[in-house]
Amino acid sequence: MDKQSLGLYIHIPYCIHKCGYCDFNSHPIKHDEMETYIDALIIEMSHYSQKYSSAGQLNTIFLGGGTPTTLSVSQLTRILEECKNQFNITQGAEITLEANPATIRSDELKSIRQAGYNRISIGVQSFDEAELKLLDRAHGIEEIHSTVDRARESGFNNLSLDLMFAIPNQTLGGWENNLRLALAKNPEHLSTYNLTIEKETAFGKLQSNGKLVMPDDDHQLELYKRTIAFLKENGFHHYEISNFARPGKECRHNITYWQNTNTLGLGAGASFYMNGVRSKNTNLPAHYIHEVNKRQTAVKFSESLEPRQAMGETLMLGLRMLKGISIKTLEDRFQTSFKTIYGDIIASLQEKELITIEQNQLRLSEKGLFLADSVILEFI
Ligand code: SF4
Repeated sequence: MDKQSLGLYIHIPYCIHKCGYCDFNSHPIKHDEMETYIDALIIEMSHYSQKYSSAGQLNTIFLGGGTPTTLSVSQLTRILEECKNQFNITQGAEITLEANPATIRSDELKSIRQAGYNRISIGVQSFDEAELKLLDRAHGIEEIHSTVDRARESGFNNLSLDLMFAIPNQTLGGWENNLRLALAKNPEHLSTYNLTIEKETAFGKLQSNGKLVMPDDDHQLELYKRTIAFLKENGFHHYEISNFARPGKECRHNITYWQNTNTLGLGAGASFYMNGVRSKNTNLPAHYIHEVNKRQTAVKFSESLEPRQAMGETLMLGLRMLKGISIKTLEDRFQTSFKTIYGDIIASLQEKELITIEQNQLRLSEKGLFLADSVILEFI
C-alpha cells in the first residue's frame, strides 16, 4: 500500500438551514448534540487509528459537511488536535476546512488558521444576490467578501471557492461575471458545479410541479465550455471535470478519491475505502452517536470489492481527471489484463472519439469530456 496516500475525511452534518437543492447528509443544528457528536468522532477516530496504525501517514485531512463552520473554534481545534494525537501526519499535509460564509465569523478565522487548518474551501456558489436567493442560500454577497478577505488576512494562502452554474435564468454573460468576480478574489482553486436537481429535494418538488425550469442541455454545455476557456485564459489548470487550480494547488485530498486510494472517513454518513473494502456510516447524527458509543464504529454497509469491480471503479474515478489514468498502473495494481476486460468498450469509445490512449495513458477526449457522465458509465 502506498504509505503517502492515506487521506482522512471528517463529516460535520449540521447546517443552519437546508438549501433547496441540497441532497447531502445535512441536518439542523442541535447544540446539545454537537458536543456528543464530537466525542463520538474521537472514539471512532481512535478505533481506526489503532486498526490502521501501520497503514501510513495522513497526507490530507478534509473537514466537510454539512457545514463544519457550524462548530465553534474550540470544537474545530479539538478535532484537529485529536487527529494529530492519534495519527502520524505528513509534514506539509493538506488540511482543509469547508466554510460557509453564513456561519463563519470573520474574527474566528485567525484562530482556525492557527489551529493548523491550512486550506479553506468557501461555499460561495454565486456572486449575484438574486441567484443566491434563488438557490436558497443563507448568506449574501457581503458575507462572501468579508469571509474571503478575512481568510486571506488570517494567513490562508490556499483558498478555494465553490461556484454553481446552470442556475435557472442564468445567462452566459451572468455566469462570466460570476467567474470574473471570483477571480478578483485571487483564489488558488475553483470548483464549478452545475446545479443538478434531485427528486427528493425541495427543488425537485418545485421542478415536478413546473415551478422551477432548468436551462436546457445546450445552454448548460455552453456555460461549461465557457468556464473551461475562461479559467484557462486566466492561468488555471483544468485538472478534473469540475475543478481548476493554479499550478501546484490541485486539491490533494480529492485526488486521493479520484485515484481510488485509501481514504478513511469519520462521522455520520461518511464513506471510506481501505484496502479494497468500501464502507459507509449511518446517516443520522443521533444514530451515529448511539452506534459509536456502543461499538466504536457506525458502519451501516460494507463490501469487499472483487478485483474486477475495484478496477472498474478506479477507471471511472481516474477518468474524471484530465490527465486520465495509466493502463500499466491499473494492470499492476489489479493484476488483471485491461484489454481482456475492456477491449471492446475501449474500441467502441475510441471509434466514437470519446477517449484517447497515448503512451499507455487513457483519458477522455475533448468530445468525451462534454459527455463524461455517459462515457464513464460504460465502465460499470
Ligand atoms: S450549506 Fe451545503 S450541506 Fe448545508 S444545506 Fe446548504 S448545500 Fe446542503
